[in-house]
Parts: sequence; C-alpha cells; structure tokens
Amino acid sequence: MAKILAVLYPDPVGGYPPNYARDDIPRVTGYPGGQTAPTPQAVDFNPGELLGCVSGGLGLRDFLESRGDTFVVTSDKEGPDSTLDRELADADVVISQPFWPAYLTAERIDAAPRLRLAITAGIGSDHVDLPSAIAHDMTVAEVTYSNSISVAEHAVMQILTLVHDYMPAHEWVTSKKGWNIADSVSRSYDIEGMDIGVLGAGRIGQAVLRRLKPFDVRLHYHDVHRLPEEVEEELGLIWHPDPQSLAAAVDVLSIHTPLHPQTQNLFDEELIGAMKRGSYIVNTARALIVDRDAVVRALESGQLAGYAGDVWYPQPPPEDHPWRTMPHEAMTPHVSGSTLSAQARYAAGAREILECWLDGRPIRQEYLIVEGGGLAGSGARSYTVAG
Ligand code: NAD
Repeated sequence: MAKILAVLYPDPVGGYPPNYARDDIPRVTGYPGGQTAPTPQAVDFNPGELLGCVSGGLGLRDFLESRGDTFVVTSDKEGPDSTLDRELADADVVISQPFWPAYLTAERIDAAPRLRLAITAGIGSDHVDLPSAIAHDMTVAEVTYSNSISVAEHAVMQILTLVHDYMPAHEWVTSKKGWNIADSVSRSYDIEGMDIGVLGAGRIGQAVLRRLKPFDVRLHYHDVHRLPEEVEEELGLIWHPDPQSLAAAVDVLSIHTPLHPQTQNLFDEELIGAMKRGSYIVNTARALIVDRDAVVRALESGQLAGYAGDVWYPQPPPEDHPWRTMPHEAMTPHVSGSTLSAQARYAAGAREILECWLDGRPIRQEYLIVEGGGLAGSGARSYTVAG
C-alpha cells in the first residue's frame, strides 16, 4: 500500500464548497497537435467543482482509500515542523500544484527515503529540485497541456489590461467613486499595430500567438526550438535568434519558458534596459525568470510602462513583497492555470498518472519531466539541469 501526500491550497475563506457561478463547463477532449485530454479509468468528481483546495483533494480520496492506500492532504508546507515535512518521511508520492508549491528541495528529497514520484497537478515542475530527483531515481510527472489554454487566455487578458490601463480606470469608478476620464486614459493605448513578442513558443506560447493574431499586431518570438516554417508563415511570425534581439524589438513581451538554469534571472537590469522605453512585460511563466527588484526599478523609472503576471517567488509571497505595491502593475495571485475548467483536466490527469504508477504501467511520455535517472519526455525537450 502506498502513502500519497497532497499539498494543496487552503479552502475558500467563505467555506467549502463555494457557490458556483455556472452549472457545468465545456468538455475538452483534445488539444492542438492531437494530444488527448487525460484518460483515467474514472473520476469521482463533477467537472467544474473546486478540486485544487484541501477539501477538494483533487477528487482523489475515494479512489485511493478504496484501494487501501493512505491519502494525506495538507496546505501546511512551510518551516521545519510543517505537516509536509512530517508526512514526507514515509511518503511514496507527493502531489502539489504550482499555485501552492510544495518546494521539494534537495534536503527534503534526502529526508524522504521512500519518495518515488512527484506529480505536478498542473504544468511546471521547477518546485522540485530536478538534479536531486534525478540522483534519487525519482519520477517527476506533470499534466502537460491541462492548463495551457487557461494560461494563454490569462496572458492575453493581462496584455490588454496593461496596455489599455484597465486597472486604474476600474478603480476610478469603484473605490474612488469618480468619473475621471482624463486620468483614466492618460496611459491608455491600443495594441493594434504594436510589436508583440513571446519568449518560449511551446504549448502556451503558441496559443498566445494564435490568440493575438486577429488583433492586427506584428508577432515575434524566440524559442530554442524554431517552429515549423508553415506555422511561422500562417501566423506571420518574426523569429529571433536570442532573447536579447526579441526583447529589443517589441512593445510587449510575454514570457512562456519553464524556469531552469538557462532562464533563471534572464530579465535582469541589462535586458530590461535594452527594451524600448515604455515596454510591457507579462510573466505567467515563473517569477525567478525576472529580477524582482529590476522590475520594480524599471516601473518606477518609466523604462517599463507596465508589468503583469500571476507568478511570484516565494509562493505565497510575504506581505511586504514589493510587487504588491509597485506602480503600473496588474498582478494576480498564481491563478491562471487553476480555473475550474483547468482543475477538471489536471485532477483527471493526476489520477491518470497515479493509476499508471500504482498499476506498474508506463506514464505517458508527454507527462514525464524526469524518469530513469535523467530528464525525460517533455522535460527532455523543455528543461536543462545545471551540469
Ligand atoms: P512547453 O514545454 O510546451 O513550452 C516551453 C517552451 O519553452 C518550449 O518550446 C521550449 O523549447 C522553450 N524553452 C525552454 N527553454 C528555453 C530557453 N532557454 N530559451 C527559449 N525557449 C526556451 O511548456 P508550456 O506548457 O508552454 O508551459 C511553459 C511554462 O509555463 C511552464 O514550464 C510553467 O513554468 C509555466 N506555466 C504557468 C502556469 C500558470 O498557472 N501561471 C500554468 C502552466 C504553465
């Protein structure tokens, strides 16, 4: 019998379950390129339910307990005496979501002798120390594509929010009870005609490019894997050989690479300084891809006209994190990939991965980040580890 430890975000302050705004969600069965949505043998939840919090338990409790496995769910993950640290000692599997990451550091992996599998319910496994997972011959798997479109929609929303300067206009009519048109429009522009770039044209980056195409913008990208010529032609893409060339060419830059040694701290003072004055950055990838304080300074000086995103470091961030109070931001907590629509898919995907692992069947290649002592599947394509 296995022990599965899930580290999930806390329940809503208003109690669980919340009052749902809608009765159902559209059924998505596949993704661009032909990958199918998760195919577990069954699920024990109604798609559209809140599954990512402690009481939601990713809809896994009945399945695991009926098999005789132990299922522990907690949101308590910080500090040496956390439930995560205590329960990790004899856990076989840890499941966590990037929105409330269980940081599986090298020390924690060393202290978890039974740990064989880390599942990311969502996408992005940088919260696991991948070199340690490799050294311990663990498997790291995530639910590839489960929330890619959710994030792409959020990124497009935040690009429009920043460039149109939506946040201050909203504040004028709500908290300030005003009607200040001149104040509201004095930093408001259209994206039409702008140069918009995407760093990392994988599943999310490509979805962002496709969604931006009808806005009559010029689309740019850089990725270590260049897209097929027919895709570049179809979308009218301008490819850049490096992030520097991309950053200097665009008015708006949206970041969609994983966090790994090549991308950590990429957007430092120098790279942000090489962008056009008044550029915008949207980062729904990972916070550590940008230099936290360089972003704040660039917003204060006017080098950046706006910064938005949903990813922070650490998560949750402290109350005095400077991104909570910097000017010209349109930040959200890490929510883009945890819409109720996405939760249905990644909860089903977590179950599919567990079913495979518990039954000794192979996990889909596209779900793998680490396996067999090295990067594998999607991990081999999109990540590097410091060598
Ligand atoms: P993906 O693997 O399909 O695409 C990543 C792309 O980045 C690949 O095309 C890869 O070649 C490219 N890349 C990697 N390193 C690069 C580098 N150094 N320079 C240029 N390109 C590079 O992954 P995806 O599904 O598109 O997700 C991308 C990332 O988005 C995830 O790793 C995760 O960190 C983040 N994400 C965030 C949320 C959220 O809720 N905010 C949800 C899902 C994913």
